[in-house]
Amino acid sequence: MKLFEYQAKDLFKKNGIPVPSSKLAQNAEEAEKIAAGLNIPLVLKSQVLVGGRGKAGGIKFADNSSQANELAKQLLKLEIKGEPVNSILLEEKLAIKSEFYISVVMDRSAKKPLIMASTQGGMDIEQVARETPEKLIKYHVDPLEEFLPYQAREIAIKMGVPNPLISKVGGFIWKLFTVFQKYDATIAEINPLVLIPEGLVAADAKFEVDDDALYRQKELASLAGDEKDEFAYVKLDGDIAVIGNGAGLTLSGMDMLKLYGGKPATFLDIGGGASQQNIARALNLVISNPQVKVVFLNVLGGITRADDVANGVVNVLKESERDVPLVIRLTGTNEGEGQRILTDADVSFETSMEAAAQKAVEIAESL
Ligand code: GDP
Ligand code: MN
Repeated sequence: MKLFEYQAKDLFKKNGIPVPSSKLAQNAEEAEKIAAGLNIPLVLKSQVLVGGRGKAGGIKFADNSSQANELAKQLLKLEIKGEPVNSILLEEKLAIKSEFYISVVMDRSAKKPLIMASTQGGMDIEQVARETPEKLIKYHVDPLEEFLPYQAREIAIKMGVPNPLISKVGGFIWKLFTVFQKYDATIAEINPLVLIPEGLVAADAKFEVDDDALYRQKELASLAGDEKDEFAYVKLDGDIAVIGNGAGLTLSGMDMLKLYGGKPATFLDIGGGASQQNIARALNLVISNPQVKVVFLNVLGGITRADDVANGVVNVLKESERDVPLVIRLTGTNEGEGQRILTDADVSFETSMEAAAQKAVEIAESL
């Protein structure tokens, strides 16, 4: 489970990691009100679960509260890597002197937590790893031994942070690791950790919790409400949207398209047990993408029921603004009922993935 930046910052604050003072706004009026109570200039940060918001235009600076209103309006219309912006975090703009990178991830191949740290903060860390790997310090923690503050300071020294900051940066690394461990995280990242005149603060926060640990992380599990129906969604550069229930099935659908010469426009896994509403949401999401010429919906009913899928499809087709051809493969749980609903609504379907993929490619090529 991924936390939004504002949730991760709340968690950090609670656990003694300094963060800038901030407030969450759900709409432009609220943003204006909050802005009036903060020192200017301000930063408006789109709350989405994907990274790279800065580059995608999801972070704006405002000099007064009416500008905050205007910018909030713009941000709330934005979609970042397919994810709509539903709320905005407002913060007083920090006078950044330097930016660091620190993170802890669960390294599955080493079966140990891995701490990564760099003085090249604020940038795309993958780029640092690729272009200047010597600037990215990696340190595996032995899960059977206690991670001690002096070890965190050693990492800070290896990073090359200026002497007067070693103990402070070390302190952040140690605390970040402690929080990572306490909450069964799989990722805890501060990028950037910034130096401002008042000291060091976490300007950004990323936190992912192991879903299998949520049973004992009640405090975090209670935050999950908002994202229960989250999709695994990736935009690609082709023209056929691929939707499936389950990552493996969705990938197979993409493979099958490729086999017949088609190009996927999306990978969209609606997960197991998707509701009618969720199917509709997934379809609307891909249909609203102008690049999509054909939709290939690939459903093998297990927990997901074919009749729910069929109802979702029929509802979307009734209301859809764009007329995008839809090729459906529908089998599995309640398939008889599902197929009957489609037939009644004059929607054709296939039962084999191969036939459906081939048909989707033919339609895309004929357009
Ligand atoms: P990300 O793009 O999703 O990683 O969002 P971040 O919160 O990391 O912000 C991206 C970049 O915006 C940071 O690396 C900073 O350079 C800049 N930024 C964010 N907040 C502030 C701020 O309060 N003051 C200043 N000066 N820059 C900021
Ligand atoms: Mn960041």
